[in-house]
Amino acid sequence: MSDSTTLGVHAAAAVVALLLLAACPVTAFADKPDATLGVVYAEGRRTEDVPLYRLERGSEELYISSFDIARIFKATKYWSPESRKLVLRIDSRRYLFTIDTRVVVVDEEPMLLRVPIRYADGSVMVPLEFVTEVLTPRSREAIELDEERLVLTIGSPDYNITGIRFVEDDEGTRAEMDLAGELLYHVDSDTPGILRIKIYGGRLNPLKMTVPEGRGLFNRVRAEQTEFDAYLFFDVKRTAARFKVEFESAGDVLERERKLVIYLEKGEPPEIPDVDYAGKRMLEILDDETIRKEKTPIRVIAIDPGHGGIDNGKVGVTGVLEKNVNLEVALMLRDRLVGDLGLEVVLTRDTDELIPFDRRVEIANSAVADIFISIHCNGWYSPSAGGVETLFLAPARTENEARLAREENASIRFENPDLDPAEVDDLDFILWDMVQNEFINESSGLAEIVQKELADVLDIRNRGVKQGGLRVLKGLRMPAVLVELAFLSNPREEELLTREDFQERVVRGIVEAMRRYQEAHTVYTR
Ligand SMILES: [Zn+2]
Repeated sequence: MSDSTTLGVHAAAAVVALLLLAACPVTAFADKPDATLGVVYAEGRRTEDVPLYRLERGSEELYISSFDIARIFKATKYWSPESRKLVLRIDSRRYLFTIDTRVVVVDEEPMLLRVPIRYADGSVMVPLEFVTEVLTPRSREAIELDEERLVLTIGSPDYNITGIRFVEDDEGTRAEMDLAGELLYHVDSDTPGILRIKIYGGRLNPLKMTVPEGRGLFNRVRAEQTEFDAYLFFDVKRTAARFKVEFESAGDVLERERKLVIYLEKGEPPEIPDVDYAGKRMLEILDDETIRKEKTPIRVIAIDPGHGGIDNGKVGVTGVLEKNVNLEVALMLRDRLVGDLGLEVVLTRDTDELIPFDRRVEIANSAVADIFISIHCNGWYSPSAGGVETLFLAPARTENEARLAREENASIRFENPDLDPAEVDDLDFILWDMVQNEFINESSGLAEIVQKELADVLDIRNRGVKQGGLRVLKGLRMPAVLVELAFLSNPREEELLTREDFQERVVRGIVEAMRRYQEAHTVYTR
């Protein structure tokens, strides 16, 4: 077919389609589909819902409109009303349909469907069977139709959270999730009746992992995918008293697949009316070793004001120096932690001087601090970038995380001026630290709490929790986070950072986070 004919057919088809649209009133069937197909695209196109219809008497076969097929599979469409034929071109193949027949001609090869192609409401309607039986085996992209849940997945998304099932027994209910390896996770039980699990670097199909009706002690499960992480919200019954989340290996240590088990234990049914329920949290079931570790009350906090001396850190648009803001906030924070929470505080510096990274770590370790918080300000080339973020030590997953780590690590050039800048860059790679690895779950949990409290009190963008190979956190023997309060490269935030009321809010957020963290670590009893 030459280009000019294609164009001609296109234009004619468009005119016919318009005429048909104008001529045919929308009938009842278009208002109320018989089912809905959820379509998930691995390439990141927005998930969509597509209506399906039952058009054949005596058949359960669901039909999908050829308009939807064309959009979903990026097909080129040719419609010839005189011959009642439709051609879809998908990848390099040609699929020819004739209205009211069961035949699909794929290139030159005819194939027979169970039910005929139909025409309704100005659209050629194709049985779903075409997608599973004809298109799927021939498509360049992976196509997967979950017929039970009616979820169509297009492309190979490389999911690492792939399935969920429930197992009940007399004492409780287990939800078992299939994961490709031991991903880092964080459990939040703060909201009564909900167990929220964040899986760092998790990738899942939200439609597939969402369970509208759970079993046993689970009411339902909702799954969400964000840019970097996956979230699962387990809505649980009132009779669930205690929970436990842990990895269970299938026995074979070489097996890459892992099961993450969420176990709910039955308790006494609540008294009726249970006015207390709204404020009741589930308790975590802890093994003896964890209890010993977690029961250690939080006593000493190490605060680390970033940079100092010849190392100014970031410099604001009007010349505000990061090292000064960091120190002002740290001193204010010390007073409040001592005064309000009765904690002991050790500072890695309380004057304007340069303290090497290793010395900062040594100060916190020798004080046997329970928590380490490093205070910093952010910066970027674009003045519009802004917001607050909290980091913990783990290999960076994105270029932005690597950038943050590189910039904070660059201070090392002041400690050792002969260092090759390339070596500074390499630090991010060699930093992965076995000592901090032991605290990675607690550090990520601490980061979540600090970030949430700061985002609540600061009226700036919430950039979330990040991870990176941070030099200052290396070798610390306690949970540790680094806070980037706001951007000195953003004129509005530079001004905020120097204001006492803003610094006061920062301090209030971190104090509240420490109070919550302390509470979370002392409420557990067996
Ligand atoms: Zn800094």
